[in-house]
Amino acid sequence: MQSFTINKSIGLSGIGLHSGVNSNIILKPAKINSGIYFNRTDKDKIIPAQWNNVISTKFSTNIGKDDVEVKTVEHILSALAGLHINNCEISIDNIEVPILDGSSKIFVEEIQKVGVLEQSNKQNILEILKPIKFKCDYGYAELLPNENNQEGLNINLESFFEGKYEDQNIKVTNLNGNYVDSISKARTFGFFHEIEYLKSQNLIKGGSLDNAIVIKDCKPINKEGLRYENELMRHKVLDVVGDLYLSGYPIVGTYKGFKTGHFITNNLLKELFKSEDNYLIHKIH
Ligand SMILES: [Zn+2]
Repeated sequence: MQSFTINKSIGLSGIGLHSGVNSNIILKPAKINSGIYFNRTDKDKIIPAQWNNVISTKFSTNIGKDDVEVKTVEHILSALAGLHINNCEISIDNIEVPILDGSSKIFVEEIQKVGVLEQSNKQNILEILKPIKFKCDYGYAELLPNENNQEGLNINLESFFEGKYEDQNIKVTNLNGNYVDSISKARTFGFFHEIEYLKSQNLIKGGSLDNAIVIKDCKPINKEGLRYENELMRHKVLDVVGDLYLSGYPIVGTYKGFKTGHFITNNLLKELFKSEDNYLIHKIH
């Protein structure tokens, strides 16, 4: 696969889900071998979108360097991963990426409007060679080598919502080509009775029914209902795709998770990079 950037700069503005502050972001084309990186223009700080720059994973994935932070990076990274863009600058003038409609739909649509630019070299992919697992007291995730008949990134998730919503599972076979229609429109979600707690923790200051599904008595309270029957699970896939892109590469392998989230996926990447025997970085056609 070739390297890709975007054809032209794209400007977007909006409120951050957790901080409630307004940010302006500009997605900019970047040269080959630049990777994906954030540029906090108000602090003059470059922060590469890398797993080892993750500083916290409480309800969102937040990266930082030298006390300069960018919060909630997972949805924009998911859009870039889904569109195979591997070189891009994300300039941002405040602390949090705008939540927009709670999914990666708007990022995807704006990128599709300007188009992607094919670059002269091939991009590296990371192929999983050995099973890796991270487990904590409530859930786990694994990265496994693909079976012979599997291509690309495959994702199998199970969730258990403790009676707050019907338990669901989802199986996405070879994400390539399925991302835009099946995953990108799935919105973030929360449970009505947890909202007061999150607010008391100084979180979700920018949250509203315009950017999140809110579940009460096992049903969404949003007037328009759900965009997909299993939108919550599809959003979990969207998050996994964004969080895995902090590996720095598209992953070829199978991700399996139970009650997974930002914390588990980031720790899984830490396990992965503990040994070079776990993976192979190479170019594919
Ligand atoms: Zn999310």
